[in-house]
Amino acid sequence: MRLQLSPELSAFREEMRTFFTTEVPQDIRDTVAARRHLSRDDYVRSQRILNAAGLAVPHWPVEWGGRDWTPLQRHIWREEMQLACVPEPLAFNTSMIGPVLAAFGSQEQKERFLPATANIDIWWCQGFSEPDAGSDLASLRTTAVRDGDDWVVNGQKTWTTLGQYADWIFCLVRTDPLAEKKQRGISMLVFPMDSPGVTLRPIELIDGSREVNEVFFEDVRVPSEFLVGEENRGWDYAKFLLGNERVGIARIGFTKRLLAQAKGYAQEVTVAGRPLAEDPRMAARIAEVENELVALELTALRVVAHSADGRPHPASSVLKLRGSELQQAATELVVDIAGPLSVTSFADGGSEVPEWARVATPEYLNYRKVSIYGGSNEVQRTIIAGTILGL
Ligand SMILES: Cc1cc2nc3c(=O)[nH]c(=O)nc-3n(C[C@H](O)[C@H](O)[C@H](O)COP(=O)(O)OP(=O)(O)OC[C@H]3O[C@@H](n4cnc5c(N)ncnc54)[C@H](O)[C@@H]3O)c2cc1C
Repeated sequence: MRLQLSPELSAFREEMRTFFTTEVPQDIRDTVAARRHLSRDDYVRSQRILNAAGLAVPHWPVEWGGRDWTPLQRHIWREEMQLACVPEPLAFNTSMIGPVLAAFGSQEQKERFLPATANIDIWWCQGFSEPDAGSDLASLRTTAVRDGDDWVVNGQKTWTTLGQYADWIFCLVRTDPLAEKKQRGISMLVFPMDSPGVTLRPIELIDGSREVNEVFFEDVRVPSEFLVGEENRGWDYAKFLLGNERVGIARIGFTKRLLAQAKGYAQEVTVAGRPLAEDPRMAARIAEVENELVALELTALRVVAHSADGRPHPASSVLKLRGSELQQAATELVVDIAGPLSVTSFADGGSEVPEWARVATPEYLNYRKVSIYGGSNEVQRTIIAGTILGL
């Protein structure tokens, strides 16, 4: 099946493709293509190039750098970026706190933070989850108590992605422990990560990467001007933010690219003198994942074509669920193609085993995360049951 875009959208796709493949430095795109970890500097360099061209925050309000594109244009923008191996603009900045501040922040906060957020002059991290508050986020226990003109914050956050790079954190805190509903006693604060009383501790991961952290707060003083919106309305802002987080999380362009690479690897690896790609079982397996991906892409296009007011469509949960399953299926496929070669994980550059096979298992392990973050797949199923199936 071929998807036919209008001539205008085809030209738009071409414009995006040309920009991404010619303007973003090759060394950064090579790092993404080889599935190596990006440095802080890589993310910053890449996002600043996009921002200068108006391509970092097209979904924001126009007065803050948005482009007033249709949902379909945004879909094409994101897919082309993934296909071209361009790092996506930092989600914490562009999909999370940016839209929240644009919608609910004070004029002062917008002026101070939005341009710096789009240009990644400030690197944000997300302080929502706690050791006993993940899926059940409303149970969070970090407190903020008013003391004169400040809030005093105590507690702990966890799984704070790339917190080691962050300048500021946006944080959910309990400001009314006596509220009748626990959701009603939560507020959102923003503050610098180098505030006295903030401590960051890395969490060691099975793939050897340094990606997530624990963050501890001990009597951290936050000026009252850093409260976002109204006191005790933080849950509403968090729901708005999490809805945005799920859009684009299917990463169809990423999986397409990985499948194309996998087909190349299956030509490279031989079994009894013949390329693995010619093995009927392997060919059928690749075709199956490709078919599933086409089905997901059609669903994604249907969703973006029908989303109104920029609000996330309820089916974004379906995209999150299937998108993460297919990312995992593709990373598993690459491990199986590498076969015994994948045992060389963590071998250094001197190894004779090709780099793609050396990174296959660490990447497979790392991608267990995609069915957990942004709301676990079990939680997505509950949302689908309630909002789509009416159960
Ligand atoms: C790599 C990674 C990066 C992350 N980055 C961040 C970050 O930057 N900032 C941040 O705030 N958080 C972050 N998170 C946290 C993430 O949002 C939580 O892990 C997620 O919400 C799940 O919470 P939990 O880990 O506490 O698991 P739990 O909520 O304890 O869930 C454990 C298991 O029970 C299941 N479960 C829970 N409740 C239900 C239910 N009602 N029905 C059915 N099954 C259920 C879950 O699906 C899961 O399988 C990150 C997580 C990961 C893995």
